[in-house]
Amino acid sequence: MTQELKIYNSITRKKEVFTPLNAPYVGMYVCGPTVYGDPHLGHARPAIIFDVVFRYLQHLDYKVRYVRNITDVGHLEDEVAGEGESKIEKKAKLQRLEPMEIIKYYTDRYHQACASLNTLPPSIEPTASGHIIEQIAWVQKILDSGFAYEVDGSVYFDVQKYNDAHDYGKLSGRVLEDLLETTRELAGQDIKRNKADFAIWKKADPIHIMQWPSPWGQGFPGWHLECSVLSTKYLGQTFDLHGGGMDLLFPHHECEIAQSVAHCGHESVRYWMHNNMITVNGQKMGKSLGNFITLEDLFEGNGELLEQAYSPMTIRFFILQAHYRSTVDFSNEALKAAEKGYKRLMNAKGLLANLVHTGNKKPKNAAEDARIQAVCAQCYTHINDDFNTAQVLADLFELSGKINAFYNKQLPLNSISASTFDLLTTTFNTFITNILGLADVTSANDNNGLVDGLMDLLLQIRANAREQRDWATSDKIRNSLKALNVTVKDGKDGTNWTIA
Ligand code: ZN
Repeated sequence: MTQELKIYNSITRKKEVFTPLNAPYVGMYVCGPTVYGDPHLGHARPAIIFDVVFRYLQHLDYKVRYVRNITDVGHLEDEVAGEGESKIEKKAKLQRLEPMEIIKYYTDRYHQACASLNTLPPSIEPTASGHIIEQIAWVQKILDSGFAYEVDGSVYFDVQKYNDAHDYGKLSGRVLEDLLETTRELAGQDIKRNKADFAIWKKADPIHIMQWPSPWGQGFPGWHLECSVLSTKYLGQTFDLHGGGMDLLFPHHECEIAQSVAHCGHESVRYWMHNNMITVNGQKMGKSLGNFITLEDLFEGNGELLEQAYSPMTIRFFILQAHYRSTVDFSNEALKAAEKGYKRLMNAKGLLANLVHTGNKKPKNAAEDARIQAVCAQCYTHINDDFNTAQVLADLFELSGKINAFYNKQLPLNSISASTFDLLTTTFNTFITNILGLADVTSANDNNGLVDGLMDLLLQIRANAREQRDWATSDKIRNSLKALNVTVKDGKDGTNWTIA
């Protein structure tokens, strides 16, 4: 690969050439789910985006270790003032189940959703509960380094002291003085030296089911800590790539940086990547806002917000249609358009498999040949430009147009050389299947798939008729389709049809 991969690094706020620390090895860490509820639309985006990153780095022949954690303990309900109780435990009491039973249930559900979305499993998926000893050792070392203090069985990170020596707010651009002014007063906060201090070890009440003994008494680790501990345990004290949603940038990732500097003496992450959020009909998605959509609802078409079910591949296509740093707005219209787009792409992929090139080494149409070569190269230019999947899909649609034209014989296949045809086939299939991870699940039982197939057949008969100047047959097909509200349009890039 002659082109360089550029990644927008959130901490330097610019696109940088990606050079792994120890090529061909790449270490990549992504914040995983908290397994106390069903996977939802918000989970789908990072899972898919970082799956494409994982796939593309492997395509570039890097040996990637992809670590994604499972948060199964101690996610404090900071938003619910004064709760101080793990979400997982709260649910356990409500449903009278063992915490680990709930964790297993929702972890399995998350894995099922990820498999439906055709995301590759990470190399390692460590749990917070499986690494308590390591987290206690980190707390101890941060205490020893002087950047934490113990109060009544809890250990807090001393943000003010850290900021005097380092730069708290480096990633998010926030200034500590402002944070001290604006941080909301939460119950239990009085024992902290400063409002911005965060717990790295939290004292457990006797009612907490999930708690462990520590040098500071019974408790559980703070949420921010697990990502610092798990990433460096499996990827080394300095590693290449850390990903997550933009909602995690502050405070979660800012705290991770502070913890790592306090523990290791330096930052751990070389490139930070953050995917933007999904909005629903222009609004932030949230349980309290009543616009919360689980992946199961989407796949099955449940709930008032959904006009129909959307397949996991439609969701995947929908998410890849936007650049990962842009917001994506969910709406039925947008998803229906994505469904069409996905089918159009898969249809072209099917047609391509049926094309047999005549073997001419020289193209009969040099301009067409050059254009197809250029668009194939563009696919790489665009993916290398900070994973611009939106532009890659536009490139693939241009290639689909050519494939349709070849199939309908509007453009003779010998217009392009045999080697360009090979390039087209390899590029088109590699990007769709291996890099974007769009699986072909249009089945024969699917009525829409049947319609697509029948339409292809009819349009092919019409194209043959036109070629033989049999205008009567060609017009009969077009007019009969029109009577069925199907409009046939002949364009530069082949014949398209739409249902009115
Ligand atoms: Zn994390």
